[in-house]
Amino acid sequence: MPGKTILFTSGKGGVGKTTSTANIAVALAAQDPNINVCMIDMDIGLRNLDIQLGLENRIVYNLVDVVEGACKTKQALVKDKRLPNLALLPAAQTRDKSAVTPEQMVSLIDELREMFDLILIDSPAGIEQGFHNSVAAADEAIIITTAEMSAVRDADRVIGLLEAYPRKINCWLLINRLRASMVKSNDMMSVDDVMEILGIKLLGVIPEDEKIIVSTNKGEPLSLAVNKTSGAGQAFRNVALRLTGVEVPLMDIFGENQNIFVKQFKKLKSLIKFG
Ligand code: ADP
Ligand code: MG
Repeated sequence: MPGKTILFTSGKGGVGKTTSTANIAVALAAQDPNINVCMIDMDIGLRNLDIQLGLENRIVYNLVDVVEGACKTKQALVKDKRLPNLALLPAAQTRDKSAVTPEQMVSLIDELREMFDLILIDSPAGIEQGFHNSVAAADEAIIITTAEMSAVRDADRVIGLLEAYPRKINCWLLINRLRASMVKSNDMMSVDDVMEILGIKLLGVIPEDEKIIVSTNKGEPLSLAVNKTSGAGQAFRNVALRLTGVEVPLMDIFGENQNIFVKQFKKLKSLIKFG
């Protein structure tokens, strides 16, 4: 069965697209050695998925090289150091953003679908050419937002754009950097508030976690099982489980019973069907 494509996108930049793509990809690959996962860094000019994974020194070719026929797709794929079933197609660092077209992305992803079960696309910020290239072959979209009004507003705009696409793309909500103490003191919007505004199905909530700084510096995503004490790491692993159809309740970020959300997750059938 050809692989599925999941787009990681947001309206606002800096809300955690790259962090989420890296962590969820690692968690999915670690969860099941039979799932072959490929990440595509579409943020042309601003490579950073490679750095989060500690793969920056292994890059020889990139996405633009593949599209222009300067190398074969396989030659450009960088294998993860830890997980043999995880690979990265890196972004070009210097070329201009119009170097790739949506049609080229569709044919590249069609080729990758034969090699991988899952293709995770880290999209650039904004809704320009890079966004349209990222969306071109997506089956599912994960909309990442923080619980700030500006980010939520921009997420809403992106959801509108995705819903207007002729091809059906399912949208899922991932709320990042949630701070329980700020929600309690009414200084941050709650999960409910964000869900009410955006009106799409919730996939997960990732707490604010300062360990992310160290993990990014080391090139070791927090979702690796060694980071047992990281709240964000656990939350990312939970998202990966939900994507494969396991019912995992929301983490207890608030120290309260969050079982109200379990019902919601019950509706979430496996996004990824392996046959
Ligand atoms: P984007 O790809 O959307 O631009 P990034 O993934 O690069 O966003 O994240 C932007 C910044 O936010 C980075 O410095 C990252 O370390 C930080 N960050 C992301 N998620 C979290 C989190 N859950 N807790 C703390 N910091 C985070
Ligand atoms: Mg990014």
